[in-house]
This record gives sequence, structure tokens and C-alpha cells, in this order.
Amino acid sequence: MTTNTAISVQSTFLRQQPVKMLIGGQWVESASGKTFATINPATTEVLAQVAEGESEDINRAVVAARKAFESGPWPKMTPSQRGRLLWKLADLLEAHAEEFAALETLDNGKPIKYAKGGDVPLTVDHFRYFAGWASKLEGETIPVSIPNMFTYTLREPLGVVGQIIPWNFPLQMASWKLAPALACGNTVVLKPAEQTPLTALRLGELICEAGFPDGAVNIVPGFGETAGAALAAHPDVDKIAFTGSTEVGRKIVEASAGNLKKVTLELGGKSPNIIFPDADLKYAVRGAMNAIFFNQGQVCTAGSRLFVHQSVYEQVVSGLAEYAQKMKIGAGIDPASDLGPLVSQEQLERVLGYVESGRHEGASVVTGGERVATQDLAGYFMRPTVFDGVQDEMRIAREEIFGPVVVALPFENVEEVAARANASIYGLAAGVWTSDVKIAHKMASTLKAGVVWVNTYNMFDAAAPFGGYKQSGYGREMGHAVLDAYTQTKTVWMGLR
Ligand code: NDP
Repeated sequence: MTTNTAISVQSTFLRQQPVKMLIGGQWVESASGKTFATINPATTEVLAQVAEGESEDINRAVVAARKAFESGPWPKMTPSQRGRLLWKLADLLEAHAEEFAALETLDNGKPIKYAKGGDVPLTVDHFRYFAGWASKLEGETIPVSIPNMFTYTLREPLGVVGQIIPWNFPLQMASWKLAPALACGNTVVLKPAEQTPLTALRLGELICEAGFPDGAVNIVPGFGETAGAALAAHPDVDKIAFTGSTEVGRKIVEASAGNLKKVTLELGGKSPNIIFPDADLKYAVRGAMNAIFFNQGQVCTAGSRLFVHQSVYEQVVSGLAEYAQKMKIGAGIDPASDLGPLVSQEQLERVLGYVESGRHEGASVVTGGERVATQDLAGYFMRPTVFDGVQDEMRIAREEIFGPVVVALPFENVEEVAARANASIYGLAAGVWTSDVKIAHKMASTLKAGVVWVNTYNMFDAAAPFGGYKQSGYGREMGHAVLDAYTQTKTVWMGLR
């Protein structure tokens, strides 16, 4: 499919440019009139001009969200009505699945087969899962030891929630943030990433169509340093939920200090993926490939440190390199592509910079390690890359690369690999491949990570909590765990005498 055919899939959405922002139920231009371009990373062509939100727009959106939270139809809605709105949104998204998959692929670069088979259906599921929770937010009765008291708790929404999301899974990240916040009765100002604002804005149209009251959801595209920073610092925002780099996570915490807003952070990782010699190796090598190359390696949980027992090291590394060489690199919109472009020139340069640093520090490239630039592949493509001869201290083994680059590291025994796997500032996820149930359980309990996958990798479900240990963040998304992040507990004491 050519880009133009793909764009025609978008109905009228991209024909109305600049694409406007959603504030208080109205589609509006930015206060400054400024716009920015969002690029198709497969071609480097401009996909659309988008209204560029800045602090004045964030302020307008926060005012609208506050008004919607305090008065109007939103706070009067029953839990069942909120749940039905979320369910309706899921139905609308499902009805437009093809359009959303194409739009996501064009804006982010990811292969359409994953956008269609993963991003969109998982987003639909996410809204449905949290539609159910809207009517199940129960308090407790507390058996206090003071006579003649009836004591109970209420779970109440926080208020206005600011949500800042990244570019690697733009639609899914929007749903991870919006669905629980709305199920709990909050109102939202969402800032999508500058590289990929389109699916969140199109989702905004469906939010309006579903019948969410004006101001319950406001979507302000723009840059992190301006719109994002203004949202994080806004004195009338009660909570910020952020997904992105650890560096920006730190800035969010600093900015939140003014009014002590609540913060949850889902940050970076350098996840260990560990193959023991008794694993089903064919399966494990395939798993290792998916763990690092899925979504061009631009995944916070990417299995970027591949620990392999020394007895099977050569076999695993050569098997992985073979898979990497067979991957079809191409525009995401081509259904045959396994690996699309990286999201931007900046990200490509950052990742290639890491490849250079690895070479410089003495590691060797088994396969890949370079940009692909041909007439057909004019965008930000690079070959999937496997490094050998790596020391744990090297930058490529310590820092988040966020691209299709894996470092292979041999190990000798369980204790050693557990200690090396845990020797990281991050603790988002880990993988273990073994057929020994004792090793599986020992590793699952020893690894300092928010998620451990055994004989599988990158599994996500709306019902299963997800989040980081250490500098990979705090708070959980998904499952009932996230409801704690969007509600506050009120204790009521009633004297009965
Ligand atoms: P960022 O952390 O900069 O971006 C994530 C979001 O934060 C975007 O919406 C961004 O806005 C916004 N943002 C940026 N600066 C600020 C700020 N000062 N205040 C408030 N919001 C801000 O990630 P990058 O896109 O720069 O990617 C850099 C690296 O971050 C990657 O190489 C990867 O290592 C890591 N990363 C991790 C992700 C994860 O899922 N854990 C996701 C994305 C990146 P905008 O983009 O519009 O400027």
C-alpha cells in the first residue's frame, strides 16, 4: 500500500489541517496559532500539520477539565453510565480498527501487522476492561475499637489528571492512561508525544462521538519542554501520570513539587533476558528475537541484555543473528514488513550513536550496526543489531538504547547471572528461559523487576499490573492496581450515640 492510499484510509481526519486540539469539547487552534509537522518516519514526508499547544493552551484545558470535574454532567454520572461510555468508546474504536491501525503505522512507523493485531485490539480491550471497573470501586467498613462508631471508607476520584505519553505505542499509551482515570471519575488533560499525536487526536473525535461530557477529556498536542512542562507544573492539576524516559521522569517529579501533585511514573529499562541451557532453545532464540526487535526495539521492556549460558552461547547468538538477517525491513504500511523505521531522525542518531560507542569500547557487531538507506527506504531504517564481546560496564550494556540493538553476555551459573541481571539502575522487566521449575521460581523471586516473564516475553493484558522497580518508576498501570493511582480514600466516622 502506498502512503497516499494509506492516508485515504483515514476518512476525513487528515484532510482538515492543521489538526486541532480538543479543549472543553471544542476542536480549537492553539492560542498562538502555531502548528508543528508530524512526519511519516518511513518516508520523512510530512503527514500532517498539528496545532502546537503551549502553556496557555494547557491552562485553557486545565480550566475546562476543572469545570467538568466540579460541575456539569460528568460528576453527576453514575458509575454505570461512566462504564457504558467507556464501553461505547471501545465499540467505536473497534469499528474504526483499520483506520487506527493505518494511522498509527504512518505516524510511528511500526509494521501494520502489529498495529492491526496488537495495538488496536489491545486498546479496545483496555477500554472494555476499565468500563467494568467503573461500577466496582468499593470502600470498606472498618471494625474500629471505639464503641458506638460506624466507620467506613469511600474511594473518590483525585480531580484533574495530567497525562503525558510517549511515541512508541501512542494509542495504547493513551488508553492505559485515559481508561482507568475516567473509570474512577477523574477528568483529564492528555499530552501526546510530538512525534506521534495523530491517533490520540482521532481518539478524541471518538470520545466526543461516544458522548463524554465536554471537558472530561482534553487533548493538547505540543512539545515536552513547553506543553508537557506546563502541565506537570500546573497548580490546578491534582496528579500527573507519565510514561517516558527516566531523565524526564525526574523533571516531572521536580515540577510536581509546587502543589505536591500525585505522580506515577513508567520509565525506562535495560531488561535482562536470560537463557539457561535446559531451555527449549529454538523457542528461546525466537523469544529473544521478539524481545528485542519487536517495535524496532523501541519498547520500555525490550530484552536488551541477553544473558546466555556459556554452554549454549555460540548456538544462541548465531541463531539470533540468523533471525535478525532474515527480518524484512520495510515501511510499516507494507504488510510483509517485520521491522519498520525508527520513529525519528533524532532517535536513529541516538541509537547509531550507541552502536558507535559499543564499537569504540571494544564490543563487536555480529550482525547489523548500520543505517539502511536506499531509494525505497528513505526513512529512519536501521538493521537489527547483535553485539558480542560485551562487558557489563560498557555503556551499551548499562544504558537504555531504545532501538533494535541487543548485547549478548555469556554467564556461568544462576547466582552469578541473577546478581549481574540485578546490577542496573532499572528494574522494569526480565525474561527467563528454562525447563527447570526450580530455576524458574528462584529467578522469578530474585530478579528485581516489576514483571518477570518465564518462557515468554512482552506479554501484556489489561488485567495484569505493570510497572517498575528502582529507577524504572513507581505506581502500577493496568489491573486493579492502577485504580489506587486514580482514587483517594476518605474515611468517614459516624458517632452512633
Ligand atoms: P521523553 O521522555 O522526552 O518523552 C516522553 C514524553 O514526555 C513526551 O510526551 C515528551 O514530549 C514529554 N516531555 C519531554 N520533556 C518534558 C518535560 N520537560 N516536561 C514534561 N513532559 C516532557 O522521551 P524521548 O522521546 O525524548 O525519548 C528519549 C528516550 O526516552 C528514548 O531513547 C528512550 O530511552 C526513553 N523512552 C522511554 C519510553 C518508555 O516507554 N519508557 C518511551 C519513550 C522514550 P514531546 O515528545 O512532545 O517533546
